[in-house]
Amino acid sequence: MKKINSIDDYTKRIKRVLVTEEEIKQAIAKAGKEIDAMYDGRPILLVSILKGAFVFLADICRAVSVPCEVAFMCAKSYYDGTVSSGNVKITMDLNQDITNYHVVIVEDIVDTGRTLKDIVALLKTRNPLSLKVVTLLDKPSRRVVDFHADMALFTIPDHFVIGYGLDYNEYFRNLPYIAEYCEE
Ligand code: 5GP
Repeated sequence: MKKINSIDDYTKRIKRVLVTEEEIKQAIAKAGKEIDAMYDGRPILLVSILKGAFVFLADICRAVSVPCEVAFMCAKSYYDGTVSSGNVKITMDLNQDITNYHVVIVEDIVDTGRTLKDIVALLKTRNPLSLKVVTLLDKPSRRVVDFHADMALFTIPDHFVIGYGLDYNEYFRNLPYIAEYCEE
């Protein structure tokens, strides 16, 4: 994994914008309405998978009108730059009982599908009232396990992306748009 040494180096790694700030904003407003319609006034628990989904959670929770709580889990799957280890580890679990909740998992991106397949299987064993998955981005061409999100805001090609919560080596999470990362 290459270290970022200067602002020039940082900027050069933002290859091109794939999804603009405005496109994200509009898609989230629409998704919020769909979630409202889906739950029809019933309270929900939005579970964000850290760290990548923290920005998406902050926006999606303000786009829904149904009563909602938020909670966080931490799963690590990318250990080395842009290459998946294929190894999902839950490093921080929920600290509440979810049996009386309609749970909505909020994820940044579904790539191989391994992370969410594992998390969904784990949360199902805890018998929530219902369980759905909303992802900001979907890279279906990369799937290695059978997994489909209930809602995917954008389908993107097989590029490593950064911004809007997604990182490369912990940088770029604060970009307000989704960009393709430039491998040197
Ligand atoms: P999966 O288990 O579906 O392969 O990977 C899910 C996780 O891998 C995501 O939550 C995200 O943290 C990371 N990931 C997958 N694709 C990308 C990508 O293009 N960019 C970044 N920054 N992370 C990714």
